[in-house]
Amino acid sequence: MKGLLGLAVLFCVLLCGCGAGTAAGQHGPRQYADTAMGTVVQQSVYCADGEEARRFFDSSMELLRGLERELLSWRMESSETYRVNALAGNEEGIGLSEEFADMLRRCLQLYEDSQGAFDVTIGRAVRLWDIDQWAAGEQEGEFRPPEPAAVRQALAASGSDKIRLWEGQQLRIFLPEGMELDLGAAGKGLALERLQELLDGTEGISGAVISLGGSVLTYGTKPDGSCWRVGIADPEDSASYVGVLELEGQWCVSTSGDYERYVEADGVRYHHILDPATGYPADSGVRGVTVLSKEGLIGDGLSTACFILGPEKGLALADRYGAEALFILENGEVIMSEGMRDYYREQ
Ligand code: ADP
Ligand code: MG
Repeated sequence: MKGLLGLAVLFCVLLCGCGAGTAAGQHGPRQYADTAMGTVVQQSVYCADGEEARRFFDSSMELLRGLERELLSWRMESSETYRVNALAGNEEGIGLSEEFADMLRRCLQLYEDSQGAFDVTIGRAVRLWDIDQWAAGEQEGEFRPPEPAAVRQALAASGSDKIRLWEGQQLRIFLPEGMELDLGAAGKGLALERLQELLDGTEGISGAVISLGGSVLTYGTKPDGSCWRVGIADPEDSASYVGVLELEGQWCVSTSGDYERYVEADGVRYHHILDPATGYPADSGVRGVTVLSKEGLIGDGLSTACFILGPEKGLALADRYGAEALFILENGEVIMSEGMRDYYREQ
């Protein structure tokens, strides 16, 4: 969390440091930071009424914690993900809420389109690697990578193509015995979509930037008309930026990087994005991917998928979804889609 807070502060500095200054009668952004969904939530909101802004902050935190508690968490017994995992192997299947069904459908489509790189059924392997216990920059002295046989076993229990869905009164799902869903690669993106709806329904907020760790939502406009600036972290030193995206209006910016969550053991560095083909941390020569999209969940899923696929296949995949992508490679090279150039400014 310490590293995350450092990033959050930097984000704040970047936001405050841009734009053309505040003219008379205009108010600056109202800043707010807290934690939810295992990450730092950083908000910068333009709202004339302080109380209204405060109410928005409170409802947004409630929304995020509710999403985790009721939908996304694999750990909390109250969540739908937990319930589905607990009933894996049940031949009658499990009834899904509309919200869960919609999320899952989009995740399964992305599994297909990414040739299996994005796979929310990879939970067993994520548990085996104990990824949720890792944090960026923290060295876990006792960490030992799992045995290859255990990795193979965990992989054998995964594969979105083994899920069956059918329509009853509500959509039902069959999960093979031993399979576990993990929504870690898409949950923050979904949260950005919900936050956007909340902003739409809140009068008085003219513009906002909200970051949930590596996923950022920009919304509306700034009073002085200047654009939103979202930094792209330098994987070599995630406290500084390689460049900035200059954006107008609503966008979702999602980044997946090997520096966000990792551990080291015997001089080897293990990061948190697993290649479903091997069960090991993806090794595609990529250190970070940033995806610019309109749809939060898809952007979040795409950044994970692109990280695994590498630039060539990743760019083709992003293009299919009408999203822009930027890759930072191990050798420091930056590769981006043609459309990304309109927004990217090198630092
Ligand atoms: P972050 O959540 O740190 O922003 P990502 O969006 O890239 O990063 O998601 C990584 C998380 O997704 C991991 O912590 C794990 O829970 C899960 N995950 C890891 N590999 C995959 C994969 N190939 N497909 C889907 N989810 C994955
Ligand atoms: Mg992701």
